[in-house]
Amino acid sequence: MHMRRIGLILFLVLLALLPLLPSFYITMGSYIGLFSLVALGLVLLTGVTGLTSFGQAAFMGLGAYTSAVLTTMFSMSPWLALLVALVLTIGVALILGAVTLRMGGHYLPLATIAWGISLYFLFGSLPDLGGQTGLSDIPALSIFGVELHDERFYYYLIWLVCLAAMWGTVNLLDSREGRAIRALKNGLFMAEAFGASGLRLKTVVFVYSAILACVSGWLYAHMQRFVNPSPFGINIGIEFLFMITIGGAGNIWGAVIGATLVTLLKTTLQGVLPKIIGQTGNFESIVFGVMIIMVLQWMRGGVWVFIERFLPPRPDKPAGGSSDLPVRSQPQRGEPLLKVDAIRKEFGGLVAVKNVSFEVFAGEIVGLIGPNGAGKSTTFNLISGELPRTDGDIYLRDEKISGLRPPKIARRGLSRTFQHVKLISGMTVIENVMLGAYLRTRDGLFSAGLRLNRRVEERVAAEAAKQLTRVGLGDSMYVPAGSLPLGKQRIVEIARALCADPILLLLDEPAAGLRYKEKQELAKLLENLRSEGLSVLIVEHDMEFLMNLVDRIVVMEFGRKLAEGLPHEIRSNPEVLEAYLGGV
Ligand code: ADP
Ligand code: MG
Repeated sequence: MHMRRIGLILFLVLLALLPLLPSFYITMGSYIGLFSLVALGLVLLTGVTGLTSFGQAAFMGLGAYTSAVLTTMFSMSPWLALLVALVLTIGVALILGAVTLRMGGHYLPLATIAWGISLYFLFGSLPDLGGQTGLSDIPALSIFGVELHDERFYYYLIWLVCLAAMWGTVNLLDSREGRAIRALKNGLFMAEAFGASGLRLKTVVFVYSAILACVSGWLYAHMQRFVNPSPFGINIGIEFLFMITIGGAGNIWGAVIGATLVTLLKTTLQGVLPKIIGQTGNFESIVFGVMIIMVLQWMRGGVWVFIERFLPPRPDKPAGGSSDLPVRSQPQRGEPLLKVDAIRKEFGGLVAVKNVSFEVFAGEIVGLIGPNGAGKSTTFNLISGELPRTDGDIYLRDEKISGLRPPKIARRGLSRTFQHVKLISGMTVIENVMLGAYLRTRDGLFSAGLRLNRRVEERVAAEAAKQLTRVGLGDSMYVPAGSLPLGKQRIVEIARALCADPILLLLDEPAAGLRYKEKQELAKLLENLRSEGLSVLIVEHDMEFLMNLVDRIVVMEFGRKLAEGLPHEIRSNPEVLEAYLGGV
């Protein structure tokens, strides 16, 4: 049996047997489960998606206090109160997300700090909520009218919820939406170029992490049977970030490891430190601070990364079966495909693209050349919608695409690679390529979380395997993308772009970093794609590579179009020689 599976079974057995220990340990285990649940949301939010929240303790408080108030003052059933708490949590998370996620950067952390602080003071100062003393006499949970008081019941319930959430989260990440979520950490552009809405997915992740914290708070309230503001303050919000940093923010197990370590350490230190120092106080915070610095210095990635080093690699899931995803009909050869009409882009005072016009017809390979800084990549970014244009228009198959967001343009059949490779380096090559097929299937978040998407996943994997084989990387499918040399990573990007089944392929310097023989193979591949009816717009510096490949060439210099024509015309154009080859 695989070591990872053995480890998991061992963990589950320990978890199941812990209640044989005295009560103190059961309580401890319950707390660890509650904190793991919150930390799990934060792993997804911060570690995977790259968004930081200081407000998870406040969401936990929202769950706890909502249920406390509704069950004690309005005699509502705790289960009904959970529903109300969830609705409230989703509402607050949506509002916070709508205000801040669009702006990106540090707005979300700041907003969650403000949210965390204000909720804490609200709990502490509303007289009806009992101030700092809090609310007591919260009813225990009951099932079929039987009140449950045994602490073992809560322990098992908490861990059942936590394990279910872990399972759902792993499933979610291993899906179409999950791949797009993992792409968000390095900016929105790549995920959006393949049709995912970054803002929507960020909101989904933020709401999901808030829900996990809310459920944890609700369980906490009914296990403790009283609540007060102190466990929900901003300092506890920071402590959750401690947990995932120490445990490992990039993996769901980091949440459990971090929650366990921090909880055990805190309890121990709170007992020991005052005795050593001879004074009472929150000295453990200082120790935590020092630990964080040490982890960031020597164990970036947290304890999980250290453990994973001793585990055998995950077994490959060989992509079998046939790819039978729906295929787009290619336009007729010679049909006008892309029309760039006097497109202009200004960056402040700099005009990067000056009223450039050109066309690409179906079945053509067109080269876009020019010295560094000529505006080629900017032109690509205008076509794919990554940058808004200052003026001019772009049409794809007679339909105006300028002004559309990248996902909409991707949906119309435009697919691209990036000059600065944008792969998810920790993810396998095949998973990276599977992201390209985002728009070709429609399985959503719920079917992914419940693992109902296996059939569709197999088809997407088969398609990705097919494209990888086609570009000659069939033997590197299961290695992390980041482990390939940069030249090969560019080829992976081509496979990913092909996985989207495009009608127009935009390649930004695909041959950079390739050896002579690899360049020949790439040229062969592009010729094959052309003979299958696909159209390509390619930026490339290697003239020899282009001359024998492309049908036409567009030359740019200082943002303007300098020349356009057949390769041999361009080669002998004096203006081009002057600009591009320095007058050779
Ligand atoms: P090329 O791909 O032809 O080498 P680029 O399109 O990358 O050139 O750049 C064209 C010009 O626009 C350069 O002067 C570059 O510095 C500038 N530029 C590109 N992107 C930005 C940006 N996001 N903000 C400001 N200036 C930019
Ligand atoms: Mg460029």
